[in-house]
Amino acid sequence: MKVKVVANILEANDRLAAENQKIFDELGVFVINLMSGPGAGKTSVLENTIKEVNGKIKIGVIEGDIAGDDDARRIESLNIPVVQINTGGACHLDANMIRVVMDDLPLKDIDLLFIENVGNLVCPAEFNVGEDIKVMLLSIAEGHDKPLKYPLMFQTSTALILNKIDLLPYTNADIEKIKKDALSLNPKLKIFDVSCKTGEGISEWVNWLYSIVNNKP
Ligand code: MG
Ligand code: ZN
Repeated sequence: MKVKVVANILEANDRLAAENQKIFDELGVFVINLMSGPGAGKTSVLENTIKEVNGKIKIGVIEGDIAGDDDARRIESLNIPVVQINTGGACHLDANMIRVVMDDLPLKDIDLLFIENVGNLVCPAEFNVGEDIKVMLLSIAEGHDKPLKYPLMFQTSTALILNKIDLLPYTNADIEKIKKDALSLNPKLKIFDVSCKTGEGISEWVNWLYSIVNNKP
C-alpha cells in the first residue's frame, strides 16, 4: 500500500512537470535542474558560471532551500533574475513548487534557467520539475563512495561537475574511482573537473552549456 501511494505521488508530479516543460519550451527557455548534497558548491558554481557567461546568454535562477534566502541574494547581487523557494522542511523541489513561482521570472527574456535544488543526494533525483536536463555536483571532499551509495542521481544526470578539485591533495578521495563508478552507472555522463577557487574547468563547463542551450530542439 505504501509503495502504491509513493508511485501515485511521483506520477502526479510527472504530469505537472510535463506541463511546466511545455511552458518553458514555448518560451524557448532551456532548463537545468541542478542537484547535489549540501555544501557541494551549487551556488558557487552558479556564480562562476554567470560571471564566465557574462551576458552572452541570458540566465535566470530559481533557488530552492529549506529556509533562508542567502543563495538568492548572492545571485541577485550579480544582476540576474532570481526567485527563492523555501520548502519549509521538504528536502526536494517538486513540479508544483516551480509552477507557483515561474511567473515571477521574466521567462521571455531568459535563455537558460537554473533550478538549484535543495541540497540532498537522494530524492531530488526522483522528482522532475520540468527541466530539459539534470546536472549534479559532487565535491571531492564528500568522498569517492558516493556514486555507488547514491546511484539514482548519477544515473539521471546528463553531466557531473566534480567540484573543489583544488582540495584533492588534502583528501584521500580517489577521483578516478569516482569517475569509473559514475560512468559504470551512466556511460554517457559528461564529467567536468572544476574548482570555483582557482577557476579551473569553468570555461570547459560553460562552453558545453553554450552547445546544449543552442541545440535545444
Ligand atoms: Mg546553494
Ligand atoms: Zn525529499
